Amino acid sequence: MGGRNHRRDACATGAAAPPALPLHAQPTIMRYEGPIYRPPSEARSLLIQATVGCPHNRCTFCLVYKKIRFKVRPTAEVVEDLEEARRQFGPGVETLFLPAGNTIAMPAPALAEVCRAARRLFPGLRRITVYGSAQYVVQQGPEKLRMLAEAGLSRVHLGLESGDDEVLRRVHKGSTAAVQTAAGRMLREAGIEVNLYVVLGLGGKERSAEHARETVRVVNDIAPDVLRLRTFVPKINTPLLEDVLAGRFQMLSPHQVLRETLALVEGLRTRTEVASDHYTNYLDVSGRLPEDRERLRVTLRQALARDETTFRAFFIGRE
Ligand code: SF4
Repeated sequence: MGGRNHRRDACATGAAAPPALPLHAQPTIMRYEGPIYRPPSEARSLLIQATVGCPHNRCTFCLVYKKIRFKVRPTAEVVEDLEEARRQFGPGVETLFLPAGNTIAMPAPALAEVCRAARRLFPGLRRITVYGSAQYVVQQGPEKLRMLAEAGLSRVHLGLESGDDEVLRRVHKGSTAAVQTAAGRMLREAGIEVNLYVVLGLGGKERSAEHARETVRVVNDIAPDVLRLRTFVPKINTPLLEDVLAGRFQMLSPHQVLRETLALVEGLRTRTEVASDHYTNYLDVSGRLPEDRERLRVTLRQALARDETTFRAFFIGRE
């Protein structure tokens, strides 16, 4: 019951739609276990926990759920929390986020029941969103994903992180580029919006060229609705921080990160919104592709002309 009321961005993680809840309403959550992570685009959403932790929990850059065992909450309890939210906020909630690392991994019938209950209690609900890693999306398969879409699941935040198989292997992502592509396509074919996450710099100096090139390829293959950019920041108590400190992983400089970003902007041939909604990024390169490509190119080239000391300093992430 209860839990710490911190809200952060999990898997590597903007809707321009009007907010569902005022920010001051957010501290009132029903029941919660573990740290609360949610994408910045869900800052004004109702947060109701259907799962706890992450079933994978092995990514070497992630500190989020390391001490928490994954579990699925009883559906009746989740529905009780939705009913309590309806009593507190009324029927006008417009967006709902079901936090924790991989809520897409819960049994599809239970997740569908939660989505249906939410749609019944909040008739004006425009969006229900979860985090999902590719392997769990693929495990659900096309039929169950269609059932979830019909029940009202509308958006999945999918952590690609990199399109390069070697980078995915090194960070223990638990999936390959092929699985990531299959997951993204399956979601889109089911009618579920894909918000895809890429972590700039995740290949370090050694894999930067491959990371950029293969990520362009996979993003083009998936054609996500939104591409959300994050920049690799080593987090406390993670294996990748140990690699950085031991010199086994060479961090990119700000210019090198911007060159990876430029490769994405120039290489993407899909119609996609690019969101740069994260404190880790050196530069805001938000826009729509292809319309804003030239503006983003100019912004990046201007930034590349700046001295590297004018960008934020290296830091170790604590959340
Ligand atoms: S899938 Fe990886 S990055 Fe996402 S919450 Fe689990 S361990 Fe962290």
